[in-house]
Amino acid sequence: MADFSSLGLSDWLINQCKQLGISKPTPVQEHCVPVILQGRDCMGCAKTGSGKTAAFVLPVLQKLSEDPYGIFCLVLTPTRELAYQIAEQFRVLGKPLGLKDCIVVGGMDMVSQALALSNKPHVVVATPGRLADHIRSSDTFSMSKIQFLILDEADRLLDQGCTDFTKDLETIMGILPAKRQTLLFSATLTDTLQELKNIAMNKPFFWESKSETRTVEELDQRYILTPEKVKDAYLVHLIQTFTDEHDDWSIIIFTNTCKSCQILSMMLREFNFPTIRLHSMMKQKQRFANLAMFKAGVYKILIATDVASRGLDIPSVQVVINHNAPGRPKIYIHRVGRTARAGRNGVSITLVTQYDIHLVQAVEEQIQTKLKEYPVEEKEVLKILTQVNVTRRQCEIKLEATDFDEKKEINKRKQLILEGKDPDLEAKRKAELEKIRSRKKLFKQKIRQSIQKQKHGRMKRKQKEALA
Ligand code: AMP
Repeated sequence: MADFSSLGLSDWLINQCKQLGISKPTPVQEHCVPVILQGRDCMGCAKTGSGKTAAFVLPVLQKLSEDPYGIFCLVLTPTRELAYQIAEQFRVLGKPLGLKDCIVVGGMDMVSQALALSNKPHVVVATPGRLADHIRSSDTFSMSKIQFLILDEADRLLDQGCTDFTKDLETIMGILPAKRQTLLFSATLTDTLQELKNIAMNKPFFWESKSETRTVEELDQRYILTPEKVKDAYLVHLIQTFTDEHDDWSIIIFTNTCKSCQILSMMLREFNFPTIRLHSMMKQKQRFANLAMFKAGVYKILIATDVASRGLDIPSVQVVINHNAPGRPKIYIHRVGRTARAGRNGVSITLVTQYDIHLVQAVEEQIQTKLKEYPVEEKEVLKILTQVNVTRRQCEIKLEATDFDEKKEINKRKQLILEGKDPDLEAKRKAELEKIRSRKKLFKQKIRQSIQKQKHGRMKRKQKEALA
């Protein structure tokens, strides 16, 4: 097996890896690092948790150390939490360089982001929507000299079904130089190969993990067949069993909507389980805070929508429960990839109702593995069934009394349909116009003020220095 020095990495980077307990390259690193160092474009398709992030962070840092300037590298990723995780790896591995990074994601203060961008950071890690907003509304930074464009979870970024991302990507591509290295990484890259043609890549090196399946051997993949109405009782029973048997285990439960996520977390708290939630209707600061508390082990159970299904690296997660069978195999692969990371063991349990057996069959076909039934004492589940269902109903009623109400949205849509309008188009058009108008105005004003302030501060400092 290769070691890091045979991949062409410098001693300072190898030392930095050692300090993190990383001594041997993983296959994705072994194959992709040398070609990236040679200056080639690269597409890496490897199982989630296999060290993909370091596979691009290491060569970028090496190239940056040879010719440091900003903005040198742009990393795009679909979720805000993932952006923070990637930036952290850059920061830790790039410490000896005095690396300056900048995170540009939605839900956080735009002015401070704009200032950070104008200060020419070496690396920018961004979600496409927010970065495109900055490009549209300000001209205080330039990406015309970047050497690396990296798309992490590339298939999600390039998913043609997601028009918002596509439009934002077009805006971003518009300011990038044609001469650059483009790197794409994901666990499920092959499905979207066609779409990758849109990204101008120069005869890319393509590497895919040899294994046929896209989930790791260390993952014990299970299912429980349950009627819809008994699902929550199974969930409570499973969590009770896991928490009784293991002190140091963390569990992620995935569910399909923000509302379901909210209700489940309320319900599990009623049962005194240390539960925290993560979904896109929460404020971004709360999302980060909750994730940090889960990572730190303050809470052992995270209930999340698919905002948490990609890339998040939390080694203590031993169990992933799919409260709903994911609609697409790809989503399943990313969700269960939150456990059994970097050689550890883990178990995934998918709750399957009579309506979604076909979804599980599609998953099995894709991963070329049969899920095994998870043994459960049904008698124990039936004992708590009434209590669980009553508690859930109480939580639903509580939630209906708050402004967390997806029904509101549905009613608005009904009204628009009655007026003969397409609610999706209408909402998008309105939101976009509003966003552009108010942001442009406010933002330009704030940027001007902030830059003025910065200049003023700099002048004052210089004056003081001159006097001294
Ligand atoms: P990723 O697939 O990038 O999310 O990485 C998953 C985990 O593997 C992270 O915690 C990394 O720090 C860790 N990791 C990355 N490279 C290696 C390596 N060569 N040896 C051991 N662990 C690694």
